[in-house]
Amino acid sequence: MALPPLVEPAQSLTPDEVRRYSRHLIIPDVAMDGQKRLKNAKVLCVGAGGLGSPALMYLAAAGVGTLGIIDFDVVDESNLQRQVIHGQSDIGRSKAQSARDSVREINPLIQVNLHEERLDSSNAMQIFGGYDLVVDGTDNFATRYLVNDACVLLGIPYVWGSIYRFDGQASVFWSEHGPCYRCLYPEPPPPGMVPSCAEGGVLGVLCASVGAIQVTEAIKVLTGVGDPLVGRLMIYDALEMTYRSVKVRKDPECPLCGKNPTITELIDYEAFCGTVSEEAQQAAIGSTITPLELKEMQDRGESLLLVDVREPAEWEIVRIPGAVLIPKGDLPSKLAELPQDKPVVMYCKTGVRSAETLALLKDAGFADAKHVQGGISAWATQVEKTQPVY
Ligand code: ZN
Repeated sequence: MALPPLVEPAQSLTPDEVRRYSRHLIIPDVAMDGQKRLKNAKVLCVGAGGLGSPALMYLAAAGVGTLGIIDFDVVDESNLQRQVIHGQSDIGRSKAQSARDSVREINPLIQVNLHEERLDSSNAMQIFGGYDLVVDGTDNFATRYLVNDACVLLGIPYVWGSIYRFDGQASVFWSEHGPCYRCLYPEPPPPGMVPSCAEGGVLGVLCASVGAIQVTEAIKVLTGVGDPLVGRLMIYDALEMTYRSVKVRKDPECPLCGKNPTITELIDYEAFCGTVSEEAQQAAIGSTITPLELKEMQDRGESLLLVDVREPAEWEIVRIPGAVLIPKGDLPSKLAELPQDKPVVMYCKTGVRSAETLALLKDAGFADAKHVQGGISAWATQVEKTQPVY
C-alpha cells in the first residue's frame, strides 16, 4: 500500500547539502524532491540505546533536518556491546548528550533537540507534538504503550521495533492508515511475566538489523516512497537468517483506535520490565534477606539450601558459593526434591525472578523459604567484591 509523502519539501538545498546528499539525489525515487522532504522532516527518536543508536546515526546521515532525542539515562559500560552511538569515553555521560555529539560529528547540517527527561503522560503529548514521526527505540512496555497512545492521539506514524536475543520485529503503526500497537496487543502483560531487559539478553548486531528497518521505513513514510510496513509486521530471525512479514489488521474493537475507544488519554503504566507481580511482593514480605545476612548465615554454618534460579548461561558467568542451580522454569517440577527440614534460600540476578519463585514455594507450603534482595548483583557489590557483574 503506497501512501502520500508525510512531509512537504523544503524550499531548496544549499550547495553543501547537494554535495553531501548526492548519492540520494541520483536515486530516481528519492531525488531532489525526496531530499527536500527529508530536510523539512522532524523525527523524534525515543531512547538513544540499542535501536536508537543506528536509528539516530542513519537518520542524521540521511539528512533528516530535525532530530529529537529523548533519553534521561547515562552511558554504562554494558551498553557499549550494542549502543554504537556511544564510545568508551562516554561512560557515565548523559546518553542524550553523547548521542547528540555523535550525530553532530556525522552531520553538522541538521538540528538536534534534546529531551533529557523521563517520558510520561504529563510530557509526551507536548514533546511528540513538535514532530512528524516517532521512531521507538525503547525496551520496556510502559514506554511502548505511552508512545503508541500519544502517536494515535496526535495522528502521527509510529515506527516500532523490538529485539530479544536473536529475534527482531518491526512495524509502522499509523492509525489513520492501519492498525496501532494496541490493535495487536490491547493491554500490557502483567508484571512478572516480562523478563527484565538485562535478564533477557540481546545479540548486539541485532540492533543494527532492526534499527535499519526502522530508518528505512521512516525515510519511506517521510518521502512517500515504496510500500511502508503499515498493516504488516516484519519478523527477523537471525539464527535462521530469515525475514518474513505477516499481515496485521486494524481491530475495530481496539480500545484506542477502534470505533468506540475507551482510552482517550495517556496512561502511566508501571515500568514493569523487571518488576515483580503483586503475589511476589506479598511473598517477599518478611522472607527477604540481604546478601550480608546470607553470608552471616553461611558463616555461622546454618543449615539451608541455597538455590540459584537463573539460567545456565548466567550460572557460567558467576555464582554464589554453595548454591545449586535450578532455573526458574524447572522449579515447579522439582518441588518434591526440595528439603522440608531446612530453609530454601533463592537468588537470581537482581531479585525479581527469585521473588516470583518465592511466591511459588510459599504456595507449595515452604513457609520458611527466603530470597536474596538484589540477587547476585547485590552479592557482588556487597560481599564478594571481586566477582564480575553482568
Ligand atoms: Zn488500535
